[in-house]
Amino acid sequence: MGTPQFVSRSFTCAQGREFTVSYCRIQGSRPGPAVALIAGQHGMEHIGPVLLKQIVAELTGADFAGSVSICACANPLALELDYEFYPENEDLSVLNDYFYSRFRHDYCPYGMERAKGPNYYNMNRLWNRDTIHGVAGEITHWLWDEMIEGADLTVDFHSLQADKPLIYNWHEESVALAGCFGAHAIYHVAAADEFNQGNLGFQAGTQGGQAFCVEFSRQHEYRDEYALGTQGIHNVMAALGMTTRDIVLEHPTYEVISSTPTEATAIGHIRYLKHEYDPVSEGEPVFQILSLESFDVLQQGVAAHDGIVGRRTPKPISRIGESVLSVLKVQIIQQAGQYPQKGLTHAQ
Ligand SMILES: [Zn+2]
Repeated sequence: MGTPQFVSRSFTCAQGREFTVSYCRIQGSRPGPAVALIAGQHGMEHIGPVLLKQIVAELTGADFAGSVSICACANPLALELDYEFYPENEDLSVLNDYFYSRFRHDYCPYGMERAKGPNYYNMNRLWNRDTIHGVAGEITHWLWDEMIEGADLTVDFHSLQADKPLIYNWHEESVALAGCFGAHAIYHVAAADEFNQGNLGFQAGTQGGQAFCVEFSRQHEYRDEYALGTQGIHNVMAALGMTTRDIVLEHPTYEVISSTPTEATAIGHIRYLKHEYDPVSEGEPVFQILSLESFDVLQQGVAAHDGIVGRRTPKPISRIGESVLSVLKVQIIQQAGQYPQKGLTHAQ
């Protein structure tokens, strides 16, 4: 039966505030793989932290092989602010007049937009580094030693702004396991430079284990995606042979090979004809642009090639030249269905 051990450590910020980070290691009833689950690195991404506390309760007393280490709130002070990072050396009162808008998603009131270059307050760029950057770096250093190094699988839970959850993956070896999780699409991410190589998903996958990142679909709020997250954790534990549960997939899972944006040629309301990850054929209508001045349909957007529908713009009104949605070329990783864990290796 799973037995939990709770571990906490105190940290002190540059401006003196003290706080605690906690993780829990649940030891199964027999030897087996080590899994690390982590959430709450980015302070506006709240579903993962709540989900992982529920997983601690579920796995306590459950029958499984191996161990599961869970850090639900890696960055408590950023979560408290509902802000991406904890700006420990900056004037926190700047955030009193800042309100997030998805229409300027990349705006940073401290002038540290991602496009402007490395920001070492971003906890998810601070993994497995020789140099410790601030209190966020002290936390990643500690958690790396305690639960990530040596893990057979690391799953890092985040959120973005999309219609449906997706997976980011850095290492080809992790694709099959990521496909068992149950999010529709697995997007490959290149850790293009030294800064981005500080990502947990990249680093955890370079030390012999597998790793990927689950992105739930809402920042700064909750959308009820707990069932998918819970099933996903049970699925990957089954795939690793830690339990005898079946792997349950509500829909196929896909590896994204390429993405083709479909641009607006007119200004108007966007009417979507497909949901994210619906299959489409070349030439099939995927959206319409509806005139604001008449009842005319100004544009019929069609799929550039066979594939599935990818992410859509968050904007209700199209702008000429801006992408409305992408059509993805994909390969299927797992078909929908219920699989006994033994023998499942790749697409059935
Ligand atoms: Zn994130």
